[in-house]
Parts: sequence; C-alpha cells; structure tokens
Amino acid sequence: MSLSHIVIIGAGQAGANAILELRAHGYEGNLTLIGDEPHLPYERPPLSKEVILTPGSARVEILSAEKLEALKVTVITGNGAERIDPEAHLIELENGETIGYDKLLIATGGAPRRLPMLDRLEKQVYTLRNLEDARKLVTVFTAEKRIVLVGGGVIGLELASSASAKGCRVTVLEQESMVMKRCAPAALGEYLVGRHRAQGIDIRLATGVTRAEWQGEEIHLSLQDDQTLVADAVVYGIGIVPNVQLATTAGLEVDGAILIDKHCQSSHPDIYAAGDVAARRNGADRPRRIETWENANNQAAIFARHVLALEPPAARAPWFWTDQLGINVQFVGDMAAAQWHVRGDMAGPDTNSAFSLLGVSDGTVVAGITVNQPREMRNLKKMVDNRVCFQPETHLDTSRDLRKIV
Ligand code: FAD
Ligand code: NDP
Repeated sequence: MSLSHIVIIGAGQAGANAILELRAHGYEGNLTLIGDEPHLPYERPPLSKEVILTPGSARVEILSAEKLEALKVTVITGNGAERIDPEAHLIELENGETIGYDKLLIATGGAPRRLPMLDRLEKQVYTLRNLEDARKLVTVFTAEKRIVLVGGGVIGLELASSASAKGCRVTVLEQESMVMKRCAPAALGEYLVGRHRAQGIDIRLATGVTRAEWQGEEIHLSLQDDQTLVADAVVYGIGIVPNVQLATTAGLEVDGAILIDKHCQSSHPDIYAAGDVAARRNGADRPRRIETWENANNQAAIFARHVLALEPPAARAPWFWTDQLGINVQFVGDMAAAQWHVRGDMAGPDTNSAFSLLGVSDGTVVAGITVNQPREMRNLKKMVDNRVCFQPETHLDTSRDLRKIV
C-alpha cells in the first residue's frame, strides 16, 4: 500500500511526538492530527506542579501553531474521532465529517478512574487529567482550605505538595499500606511519607472513604477506620482507565488497553497505538502498559520508524520522574526488584538530602532511583541497561564516583 496520508488520533504527548518523529525521519506525505480538546498539543507533567504553583509562568505547549504549520500538519481541535472503519480506512469525527488514512495511530491516553461515591457530592469534587482540570484546582487551592486527596499515588502526592505550598490544610488517604505502591518500592514510599508529614501533610494509610456527604457548607467523609474528616474540597486520583472505545468498536484486540506488538502495531496492520492507551504484548506474561511521559514519546518514535520501514530506536529501561515538596525523584528499570540498597544517607535532615537506591534481582542491578541527584541517573540507567552485576562494596560507597565504575 502507498503511504500518502498518516492520521493520528489524540493530540497529546504521543500524538505530538509521532508528528515530530515522522517529519524528522523524512516523511513528506499528508499528516493529520485529530484532537478532542480545544488546545494544541500540551504536556501533562506540569499540570500537577508548575501550573498550580506558578500559573502565570508555567509552560505546557509541545507544538505551537507556527511549528505545526511549518511541519505541514492538518490540525483538527475540539472535534474528536467518533468511529474507525478499519476495512474502509475511514475515521468519522464528532461533527460527522470523515477522513481517510493509509496508516493510523491511536494515541487517546486515558481518563481518571471514577469514584461514584465522591462524584455524587456534585460540587467541590475534582480529578486531574487536563488543562481545564488544573486551572480549576488553581482556584480551589487557596490558603487555609481543607483539602482531602483520595489516592496516595503520584497525582495524590504531587497535588498534596502543591496544595500545601499554597497554604491549604491537606490530608491524603491511601487504601494501601504504603503510598505510590504501584510504581515505587516501599523504602521510597516510607521516605516520602516522612517528608510529607514533616511538611504538615496528614497522610493516612490503609484507609479509604466509606461515606461522603454534604453537611451544610462542609463535606463530611467517613473512613474505614471509623474516623471522620471534614473538607472544603475533595480531589481524587485513583488511577486511569485507557480511552479504548474507538479501538473496541473497530474490532481491534483490546484487553483493558489496546494490545500492540513491539512495533506498536495493533491487531490490524494499518492501525497502531501508543502511550497510556496501549499495552504491549509480552510473550506468556500479561501485556504491559506504562503510564509515563517517556513511554509515550518512545512508542511514538517506534511507530514512526516502523511505518517508514526504519530500524526501531534502541530499547532502554523505562524511566520516569516525580517532583514533590521540592524533591526530585527519578526512577529507572524494574520497580519490582527483589531487594533495594541505599547509596548515601536516606535519613538526611531535610528535603535537600540526596541519595540513590539500587534495585537488585538475582545479583543484577535491574533498577535505580535517584533522590535530589538527577546527574547520577545517567549512571544508573547505564547500569540497568548493561545488566551490571551488583557489587555492594563499590556500588554503595559514595566516595566512589559511579561514572568511573560503569
Ligand atoms: P495524553 O497526553 O493524555 O493525550 C491523549 C489525548 O487524546 C488527549 O488530548 C485526549 O483528550 C485525546 N483524545 C482522547 N480521545 C480522543 C478521541 N476520540 N479523539 C481525539 N482525541 C482524543 N509522567 C511522567 O513520566 N512524569 C511526570 O511527572 C508526570 N506527571 C503527570 C502529571 C499529570 C497531572 C498527569 C495527568 C500525567 C502525568 N504524567 C507524568 C503522565 C504522562 O503525562 C502521560 O503518561 C502522557 O501524557 C501519556 O501520553 P498520551 O499521548 O498517551 O496521552
Ligand atoms: P496511580 O495509579 O498512580 O495511583 C492511584 C492510587 O490510588 C493507588 O495507590 C491506588 O491503590 C489508590 N486507590 C485506588 N482506589 C482507591 C480508593 N478508592 N481510595 C483510596 N485510594 C485508592 O494513579 P494516579 O491517579 O495517581 O495518577 C493517574 C495518572 O497520572 C497515571 O497515569 C499517572 O502515571 C499519571 N501521573 C504521573 C505522574 C508522574 O509520573 N510523576 C504525576 C501525576 C500523574 P491501588 O494500587 O490499590 O489501586
């Protein structure tokens, strides 16, 4: 089949990066980007951080109108894709228009998982996924407001940090015994809980909301541990649900997420998927979905190179970061590593303390975490990618420069 029109559904991280990759690798044909939001592509990481902390100066744009014009991209905003006909190679938009394609990338991301018990409050209950959500939170997080964050994942902790910096009185509820359990080892979770509590943030573990109701001007939350909390507003972040509706109705193979192979190809050879909406098949293991900025960019690059019949980018261990209370934490590799070893002083006195954690399975360094020392991440990435054999006496000795060891 000739390749004269590539269409991308979803003007987010993966969609925008797919455009850059296609043009950078010489694709000169037609390129259409379909977005359901009213905005040109923007980044989500600042939404829980800078957009709330410094709304006047936060930058989120990935591709400006000028850049998109220079790249000769037809951009559709505020008019999402409604249906895909894979056999006819046609997409129907919300307004009824149809668009044909030769190759299609679905990069529709995910939506906050809903908690109906809280949604029933109807007002002063929020989730965070897009720019409008973040702008609403800017007006909610004002000094002395009592904010309850349900979910001690990355959204919960980053928003706890931002709300606290705005002078709010913040409580975080996590139903698990530790925060960020889905993406970080307990040792790091414990460290972060300590830092948040030292900042005056009330983190409650192993509890959740059993009842939520308005009493006058206040929200009353009953908890599993029989405590009651009173709040002015509730924000919840309990994970996302991938936006798979288009793929499901198109008859693609979907198992919670769109199933893709190592080229990001779905069960239809002309349809690809990338980012939060996609799960890569993994032999006999469960397909794997990775919800990070870097993964969205990587999979967009893999897609672009595959449709252009180019070699894929080199495989690397997954990486992501979080910023909380002024602490920068970066993660690489397999967070389910069997043991974790500390390089440096984890019990340092303040939020500026710097240390690293090395994750080891079967004697091999399979993961690394840096806290307030982003420069060391390069070395940890190398160790993980090269599957370095763990040597505690050298790797944990901070007088030894990791750069010279790896
Ligand atoms: P998205 O960027 O969500 O883009 C999907 C786009 O598709 C959206 O614009 C959506 O509206 C649109 N869409 C959906 N359905 C349709 C349709 N039918 N038609 C047209 N368009 C449609 N990751 C990190 O590694 N570090 C961080 O610090 C970090 N911070 C984050 C903070 C927040 C608040 C959030 C929400 C996420 C954060 N992430 C972070 C995760 C990262 O932003 C996501 O993994 C990444 O955005 C996923 O990219 P994506 O392209 O798959 O989806
Ligand atoms: P996460 O999946 O990271 O965390 C959700 C947390 O909420 C989990 O610990 C979950 O526990 C817990 N939870 C689930 N249900 C309840 C409940 N009923 N009551 C209390 N706790 C509950 O999702 P987030 O919502 O934090 O983040 C959403 C998306 O945004 C993700 O894609 C994430 O990657 C992205 N994001 C990434 C950031 C980063 O990488 N720095 C920053 C901000 C957002 P359990 O595991 O048991 O379900």
